Amino acid sequence: MTGGSCCGRRITIAIDGPAGAGKSTVARLVARRLGYRYLDTGAMFRAVAWYAIATGCGVAGLTDRQLENLEIGLDYAADGTMSVTVDGRDVTGEIRSSQVTAIVSEVARQPAVRRYLLERQRIMAAGGGIVMDGRDIGSVVLPAAELKIFLTASVTERAARRAREMAVAGRATDMETLLAEITKRDSEDMSRAQAPLVALPTAWYLDTTGCPLEQVVDMVVARAEEVIRSVVQAV
Ligand code: C5P
Repeated sequence: MTGGSCCGRRITIAIDGPAGAGKSTVARLVARRLGYRYLDTGAMFRAVAWYAIATGCGVAGLTDRQLENLEIGLDYAADGTMSVTVDGRDVTGEIRSSQVTAIVSEVARQPAVRRYLLERQRIMAAGGGIVMDGRDIGSVVLPAAELKIFLTASVTERAARRAREMAVAGRATDMETLLAEITKRDSEDMSRAQAPLVALPTAWYLDTTGCPLEQVVDMVVARAEEVIRSVVQAV
């Protein structure tokens, strides 16, 4: 049995960081090791961006009223991979398109969108035993999370990782475009007024440049187990 479930105390883990840092992959693998659920909140913002394009309502049309009827579904396969639906339609692949990526930060700046997703994200986190990744998880969505991590890597490494992922998915790209896209998105996410991306002083700052994925996962699991033990001892 893993440390995540052995003590009967299921904590909440918040992973924030810039684009392409590997947050979702790390979150998914850590959640699997601990027997926790995981939630990639970026996929939810991407689903809303897809909806803005598909319905033609555009970013300006994402009002509270428009969002009232939007149904975002998240389903998990046995291996922990997440699929996303919008009003019942599977958009898992489409939310990673360059059209969606180009507008997602602007979509994420809309107060109505943040309100809509914040409520759902908090409902999903209720009860603990979850690893959630995004930009504002430790600062806004789950400020009481027992473990907060700011996961990052050099921008060149993040672009190279993204390029490899896209190559595996059979999508053409080049490093220059990726570097420009990541830099622009980071700057938009860090400079917005509402729920900006910040490295909290209370978060564990983990720079994974040059660090293999398995090692990052091992380090996060070890830290989570330490936190679980300390939380149990404190009760
Ligand atoms: O994580 P991913 O790169 O898929 O996120 C897409 C975009 O969604 C980010 O660039 C950011 O603008 C937005 N986002 C956010 N808050 C989160 C997660 C994602 O604003 N918690």
